[in-house]
Amino acid sequence: MHDIWNPWHGCQKCSEGCAHCYMYFLDQSHGRENSAVVTKTTGFNYPLSRDRGGRYKIQSGEMIRVCMSSDFFVEDADKWRDEAWSIIRERSDVKFFLLTKRPQRVEKCLPRDWDDGWENVFFNVTCENQRRADERIPILHRLPFKHKGIMSAPLIGEITIDKYLDEGQIEQVICGGENYDGARPCRYEWVKKLHDECVAHDVTFAFIETGNYYVKNGVTRFIKSKIRQTYLAYSEGLAYKGKPMKFELCDRMGLPIPESELYIPHYRRNCINCGNRLICNGCSDCGRCQDEIIDIKD
Ligand code: SF4
Repeated sequence: MHDIWNPWHGCQKCSEGCAHCYMYFLDQSHGRENSAVVTKTTGFNYPLSRDRGGRYKIQSGEMIRVCMSSDFFVEDADKWRDEAWSIIRERSDVKFFLLTKRPQRVEKCLPRDWDDGWENVFFNVTCENQRRADERIPILHRLPFKHKGIMSAPLIGEITIDKYLDEGQIEQVICGGENYDGARPCRYEWVKKLHDECVAHDVTFAFIETGNYYVKNGVTRFIKSKIRQTYLAYSEGLAYKGKPMKFELCDRMGLPIPESELYIPHYRRNCINCGNRLICNGCSDCGRCQDEIIDIKD
């Protein structure tokens, strides 16, 4: 339901996947200059916000994606990160999806009481090409996190992660093409290769969107709409549900929360064919997909 928490905004480009960063694009289209300047947002305490009835807006068991307009481990946010960790610590009943292109900074950015990791943190690294997979996944393996995953989006080249999946630490792989100005093509065979490797290791694989330029059987298609992209991605039949991820969530007293008290995602008719379905927190009832007639043959 409430799926994004942006405690800070802005970031500096640091790898090939950043070349056409959507945050830069969206900032520009909203007339905001200097996306490289990192600022604390007004929504910094969002996970602690409550409704009129005094209940947390983010319910126990929800998964919330963190820093989708920055990088949680960007240098300029070092001064605020301890405060952000305190919020994550306090909401031990919520799953926090962290994603970084800076795993080399993570060890020194962990809180003092981290030990071997917190159950409610799902840590992901971006692997947009083979170079970054070979650089970041070994670091991912060494870091103390209870839950680990890979985000191959934007996928801009063929990659293999077979030998890394062999270690059995990676629980989920997400893959998608690139969007907006300068978008580079994503090829079906790259996605299929990642899918096949995940299936062989029983790891969940989600192809969430094709990107603006999708190449299959030598034909390049331009797909502008993100909703069409996600439907087309789903129609490729590459979604795979592997070993279930189990988060042992607990309340502030450290007591386990029974399954029956956890958030249950709900879905709508349009969700059935959505590439995000496998990894999604459920419908947020924004209504945007209903404004668009979905026909992936366009
Ligand atoms: S790390 Fe992410 S937010 Fe930062 S510039 Fe790169 S793509 Fe954009």
